[in-house]
Amino acid sequence: MSEKKIPYKIYLEENEMPKFWYNLRADMKNKPAPLLNPGTHQPMTAEELSGVFCEELVKQELDNETREYPIPEEIRDFYKMYRPSPLVRAYCLEEKLQTPAKIYYKFEGNNTSGSHKLNSAIAQAYYAKKQGLKGVTTETGAGQWGTALSMACSYFGLDCKVYMVKVSYEQKPFRREVMRTYGADVTPSPSDTTNVGRKILEQFPGTTGSLGCAISEAVEVAVSNPGYRYVLGSVLNQVLLHQSVIGLESKIAMDKYGIKPDVIIGCAGGGSNLGGLIAPFMGEKLRGEADYQIIAVEPASCPSLTRGKYAYDFCDTGMVCPLAKMYTLGSGFIPAPNHAGGLRYHGMSSILSQLYDDGYMEARSVEQTAVFAAAEQFARVEGILPAPESSHAIKVAIDEALKCKETGEEKTILFGLTGTGYFDLVAYQKYHDGEMSDYIPTDEELAKGFASLPQF
Ligand SMILES: *Cc1c(COP(=O)(O)O)cnc(C)c1O
Repeated sequence: MSEKKIPYKIYLEENEMPKFWYNLRADMKNKPAPLLNPGTHQPMTAEELSGVFCEELVKQELDNETREYPIPEEIRDFYKMYRPSPLVRAYCLEEKLQTPAKIYYKFEGNNTSGSHKLNSAIAQAYYAKKQGLKGVTTETGAGQWGTALSMACSYFGLDCKVYMVKVSYEQKPFRREVMRTYGADVTPSPSDTTNVGRKILEQFPGTTGSLGCAISEAVEVAVSNPGYRYVLGSVLNQVLLHQSVIGLESKIAMDKYGIKPDVIIGCAGGGSNLGGLIAPFMGEKLRGEADYQIIAVEPASCPSLTRGKYAYDFCDTGMVCPLAKMYTLGSGFIPAPNHAGGLRYHGMSSILSQLYDDGYMEARSVEQTAVFAAAEQFARVEGILPAPESSHAIKVAIDEALKCKETGEEKTILFGLTGTGYFDLVAYQKYHDGEMSDYIPTDEELAKGFASLPQF
């Protein structure tokens, strides 16, 4: 440990930043299954999708062949304000753990939205602007995506309508104010501004809302207002494409110092940060050029990869969106209220689902008190207060480093540190006060979610 040839933080020069996003699908033998029309069960066409999404994004969504997409200069200019994100050698954590493993993390939390979601928000806002649209609509749960999109829309002068799950709207007033600072119009969902919202309010008076319901409201507003489209912050192929910037930067930085990771770890909600981080490495693995152990980490309370079914499912609870084939717990599955809001989605990106099914990556589920213990351990030595979502990856990175301590292996571990946890301090408080529980759904509870899968 005395010789620190690798700097604590590896930065890239502006001219070393990636000029292309990498489309992992081009190298997949088994392509991810297509989105299906929920009525006809036929693959969604570009025409059908372009009523809801921007044209250029529809093209990206359906393109399984083009390996590289040039990142438009306007987007690269915005990226330069907060990228390249640092790749950090966790010397202090290694020292604390007394492990022979070499630990690196790619930190995506150093922008105002506090997470990697800005990487795709800026791309989606750019294409909406280029198409001459007035604005976009979306949903947000815990608020990270809504915040990122608000920033992106204000940069390009687009109107941004965010449907925020009512319980978060009330419990997370600070995120709401960040969005309003960037000019977004934030409505608690369900609301009386849409048909679907009014129907749900009538059926369930006093409901605090759900992500699925907020999606349905945001889609309704997009399709019923000329000049508006709907945008989504994870799960979709286009989002993984934009997030490939995380992995490409990591790879360029590591190559510069001749570092090759043995293990790559990321938390998985809808799969966008993990899909982005692993993209160029998985590409090499698919092409048979190199091998990496890749681990997706999910909460034990919402275990879509480790305990889900690989099937076509609804993307939203309102069942208005296309069907996607993915590892899923069923759109009717309601996860226990855990504190990693960004990991509570019932399904997983079709790309990652296919790769997982083909055996190219593994998955682990972890319990939330252990995740917060890892978060605290990390914060105390590395200085960054991590988001609860990101801390799932920290937990498994520490587990792997401790395994190396036992075996004496000097493995190189790379994990994605997706964001900061300043808006999650109530969760930290619960942890510190010993009020945090580890809820693991029973098989009976999972069966209820599976019963909501479409039958055909
Ligand atoms: C949204 C979010 C995630 C999970 O989303 P993915 O699409 O799975 O990447 C993870 N970490 C943070 C900080 C988030 O905001």
